Amino acid sequence: MHELRLHNTLSGKTEPFVPLVPGEVRMYTCGPTVYDYAHIGNFRTFVFQDILRRYLRQRGLKLKHAMNLTDVDDRIIANAAAAKVGIREYTEKFVQAFFADCRALAIQAPEHWIRATDHIPAMVELIERLQRKDFTYASEGSIYYRIAKFPAYGKLSKIDLSGIQAGARVDNDRYEKENARDFALWKAPKPGEHFWETEIGPGRPGWHIECSAMAMQYLGETLDIHTGGVDLAFPHHENEIAQSEGATGKPFVRCWIHAEHLLVEGEKMSKSLGNFYTMRDLYGKGFKPSALRYALGSVPYRRQLNFTFDGLEQATNSVARLRNFADRLEQGRFPAGSPSGFHRRAEQALSEFDAGLADDLNTAVALGAAFDLLREANTAMDSGQFGQEDAGAVRRFLTAFDEVFAVLPDDDAAKLADLGFAAADGAVSPTEIEALVAERQVARQRRDFARSDEIRKELADRGIILEDNKDGSVRWKRK
Ligand SMILES: [Zn+2]
Repeated sequence: MHELRLHNTLSGKTEPFVPLVPGEVRMYTCGPTVYDYAHIGNFRTFVFQDILRRYLRQRGLKLKHAMNLTDVDDRIIANAAAAKVGIREYTEKFVQAFFADCRALAIQAPEHWIRATDHIPAMVELIERLQRKDFTYASEGSIYYRIAKFPAYGKLSKIDLSGIQAGARVDNDRYEKENARDFALWKAPKPGEHFWETEIGPGRPGWHIECSAMAMQYLGETLDIHTGGVDLAFPHHENEIAQSEGATGKPFVRCWIHAEHLLVEGEKMSKSLGNFYTMRDLYGKGFKPSALRYALGSVPYRRQLNFTFDGLEQATNSVARLRNFADRLEQGRFPAGSPSGFHRRAEQALSEFDAGLADDLNTAVALGAAFDLLREANTAMDSGQFGQEDAGAVRRFLTAFDEVFAVLPDDDAAKLADLGFAAADGAVSPTEIEALVAERQVARQRRDFARSDEIRKELADRGIILEDNKDGSVRWKRK
């Protein structure tokens, strides 16, 4: 294994990553605000943090990972009121949709999924701690954080505080990106709004306090890693630091990792430009979950990802190439041993794969290692220079590859069916293919060529091509 180095927004440097408690990583990811379906920009970050999580586990680290669901904010309250339902009822549909989207994209569940509305007492307690240390002030029933009391404010986003007006406040959930303002920890209820009756008065939590309170409740006062989209660094993460460090006096997070923006066809994604997509919009256009995961994960997280339909077609082809190769490896009848020592090439590829990921999660390098190996292994197989020992080494590579990339199992049709989409192109399972291939072999031995042709055609219609080898064996692959 290569030394793991990660880019830390706090230091502005790529540095060796060593967890505070040996062997165990405490990680927090800012989850979605569940007022609508999450979009591909959100999922760029969620796929990135999943690749990070999977790679940390591959390195033998135990994960203590929490992700929140923000299920109370201005938009949720307004939308729920408009729909004449409670906020829990309103958000439940989007919570379930988010879980289903994560399953389709093979995003592993964190150890803790946590909903903000289940943790109001922890937030109230944290605000009381800040009150005791004089970090807060009250105004018209709301409670604000006094930024001037926390001199380190701005250390994450490097925001220039020279223009800060002491006491300038903001209390909605959508913040300006340029100005540091005292922000609401607790918001007084407006008439007709949902609120909680608590020791600090009636109201509801601000967005930032949710993450500080929940992260520390589940992971302790100092976290190893906190991830999120780059747009969260200011003010959200800056405010999390101010709250947590103000209350505890300890460093809140050792390594902050931010995923860059996603563009669509070179432009900022927005509903008004008509280039705004949820995962479901793309499944509706015939794209598969595996292709989307591949497309979102293939660009290293610190680079802007330009999402294009051409790129999505390429991702579809890349996944098909990987699966065809894995199928060929499973079906191949290779001689014993290693005729040309190819297994060493597979071991080298595994080292390159690990080196890529260890270098600040460079997924492009890791994928390059996979496709180089695939091409060379195909050549070795074509020329008979590939034995069972080589197959074993290549299989070990593919196992390690898929522990992180998670695109090899051919389960798109089932996933799409779970999301309510008709199964794409009558997808067929390897077991079913093998059964039909065996039946065709029997038909050929009986010289029943009509049935043999029928089976070939049936498989072709379902996207499977058969190739008859000289030795009488049959190889199948997907179109
Ligand atoms: Zn957060």
